[in-house]
Amino acid sequence: MRTYSALALLREGLSGHRGWQRAWADATPKPHYDVVIIGGGGHGLATAHYLAAEHGISNVAVLEKGWIGGGNTGRNTTIVRSNYLWDESARLYDHALGLWEGLSDALNYNVMFSQRGVMNLAHNLGDVREGKRRVNALRLNGVDSEWLEPAAVKAFCPPLEVGAAARYPVMGATLQRRAGTARHDAVAWGYARAASARGVDIIQNCEVTGFRREGGRIAAIETTRGSMTAGKVGMVVAGHSSVLADMAGFRLPVESHTLQALVSEPVKPVLDTVVMSNAVHVYVSQSDKGELVIGAGIDDYLSYAQRGSFPVIEHQMGALLALFPSFSRLRMLRGWGGTVDICPDASPIIGRTPLDNLFINCGWGTGGFKATPGSGHVFAHTIARGEPHPLAAPFGLERFTSGRLIDEHGAAAVAH
Ligand SMILES: Cc1cc2nc3c(=O)[nH]c(=O)nc-3n(C[C@H](O)[C@H](O)[C@H](O)COP(=O)(O)OP(=O)(O)OC[C@H]3O[C@@H](n4cnc5c(N)ncnc54)[C@H](O)[C@@H]3O)c2cc1C
Repeated sequence: MRTYSALALLREGLSGHRGWQRAWADATPKPHYDVVIIGGGGHGLATAHYLAAEHGISNVAVLEKGWIGGGNTGRNTTIVRSNYLWDESARLYDHALGLWEGLSDALNYNVMFSQRGVMNLAHNLGDVREGKRRVNALRLNGVDSEWLEPAAVKAFCPPLEVGAAARYPVMGATLQRRAGTARHDAVAWGYARAASARGVDIIQNCEVTGFRREGGRIAAIETTRGSMTAGKVGMVVAGHSSVLADMAGFRLPVESHTLQALVSEPVKPVLDTVVMSNAVHVYVSQSDKGELVIGAGIDDYLSYAQRGSFPVIEHQMGALLALFPSFSRLRMLRGWGGTVDICPDASPIIGRTPLDNLFINCGWGTGGFKATPGSGHVFAHTIARGEPHPLAAPFGLERFTSGRLIDEHGAAAVAH
């Protein structure tokens, strides 16, 4: 793999950009792999990369039914933070945030990680108490977190309406300064390029359609491009996790819902942080192109449609304008949806399954983009060693029978 650098850019600029290589090879499926990863989103690609880079397992295929990053990885609102309440989650998400901080260098690919801070607003006494509790819990876990009084909130984010006349009074906010945004496609492309360079086969337009089971194991994987065998299989298909689990013969405590977002027309820089409001179910940041990126809660009903409903947009716009009245003349440019996989406790599932050589990573719901590097890192360890990474251990499927749930509904920032 040729290294991207300022010098390479200069050289290519002077020679008509004819020397760039393909970022990753377009592989043809082989009959056998040591590990097959199903799902070419950020989590699947990161898993493949760390399998090769940290565990020396490079006879790996990533099977993607569409194009890599075309699922939730390319559809999210790109917010990265680690301000989760419980110890188990704070450790997992902060592990991911630590990896984000060095990711562009590690992958030699600019993922445009921007630590512009994330504020979660408090609009009532319950929010204030919950926010302060979270700040304290995070600090006890060594995760950066601050409580801002209303004047400090206004100073940090001038366009926000915090005055007495505000429709939703701002009574303070939590702030994580290390949090921010990243370029979602670049994360998929960066991991794909790094994994491919280490010998991983990235196979697009290859849908898994079934499994052949033998003696409590996956004996073969059926795909639209033929069948193959694998020593171990990792399932990382987000909103389609229950569909694939059903093919493998077990059930998951996961619901698939549509989550949508939209962007405004691009405008000059106006918002240099991320603002989230749990109480009114809206959050907003500004992309490097200038668009306001606006997210909301999930559609209540179960669906595999990558398209959300109008009542959510109506509520989302009303909430946005109550917080930022000055955005009222902005025109909205486009909206889209993704299918998110939500567990009853709003925490992910990472670990073993009832089948011996099948491992699962799912249930990230509305908030898995931020976890991408950490999720791939601990899942690769789990697959390679056959036992959960210590950070992943509390997130196994067993918690739904043991009752040791990790309730992170409050950290989701929007209702789900
Ligand atoms: C609108 C929206 C906003 C969001 N905002 C944020 C945010 O701001 N911050 C945050 O942290 N998270 C956010 N999320 C959640 C986040 O996007 C996801 O949790 C995360 O991207 C999941 O990554 P993944 O790699 O597991 O899934 P995906 O990127 O969805 O990858 C799974 C892949 O599996 C493939 N697949 C499915 N079935 C098969 C099959 N049978 N065979 C082969 N391949 C298959 C799919 O095509 C897909 O590409 C948001 C999600 C949405 C939809």
